[in-house]
Amino acid sequence: MLDMPERTVRKQHARGDAAVRAPHHGGPRFIDAPATTSPFEHRSAASDLQPTILVAEDDHSCRSALHHFFERSGYRVTEAADGPSSLRAIFQHSADLVILDLGLPGVDGTDVLAKIRRHSAVPVIICSGRDSEEERIRTLNMGADDFVVKPFSFPELEARVRAVLRRGAPQTVTTRLVFGDLVIDRDTRTVTVRDEVVPTTRKEFDLLTFLASSPGQVFSREDLLERVWGSTEQWQGRSTVTEHVRRVRLKIEPDPDSPRWITTVRGVGYRFSNISG
Ligand code: CA
Repeated sequence: MLDMPERTVRKQHARGDAAVRAPHHGGPRFIDAPATTSPFEHRSAASDLQPTILVAEDDHSCRSALHHFFERSGYRVTEAADGPSSLRAIFQHSADLVILDLGLPGVDGTDVLAKIRRHSAVPVIICSGRDSEEERIRTLNMGADDFVVKPFSFPELEARVRAVLRRGAPQTVTTRLVFGDLVIDRDTRTVTVRDEVVPTTRKEFDLLTFLASSPGQVFSREDLLERVWGSTEQWQGRSTVTEHVRRVRLKIEPDPDSPRWITTVRGVGYRFSNISG
């Protein structure tokens, strides 16, 4: 179901991919370009983290060519091949910038963009084979930070990435969330209660971290399904959320029947209450 521009892109990226594997056989010059200095030099010395770029693209060769290119340019790169996994990555704060293909399978990329913008200010650069002024204006109005048309040059895309990261306040991700005797460490993915590590499953950790990142804010079960699971009620029951909240409470609450951290807002949902002491 690809339109013409998408086919052109496939060819283009097939060449780019070949060049990654055999950089000395006349592939595009950009692959041979030496890795640039760290794009994070503008960041504070306290944060020596490289920015993480999420490449949301269903075309495998295009995705891996972008992955290699940006990694060589000094970024961390994560990949997503569809809309739900892109949203999951974004809502778990694992990207500083998103390169979003509009032609993700089964999902209109503009829907993905709309969902991102409902919940996150992460910079988004749209990559699309659809070269129409209308499309560019529409996505920029929806909150995209830039728009590149396929086929594009990788160095140009990288320059745009730098420009967008410079403009936007770099998202300073707090690694450790500390609430009295409850400590959540995003880097090591550990939860500590009164100096004891509490083992959590992946989703339990994601849920707790998500709630604790916005203390006081109430989230409905639907919100949490979408933002922690990258899912919707059509795919997953709301009881999934209820059950995970129950299990997290058993692990972190001094008295799970009368929760202090994750409180229920009757008829609405849950919130993380930052009441230290
Ligand atoms: Ca695509």
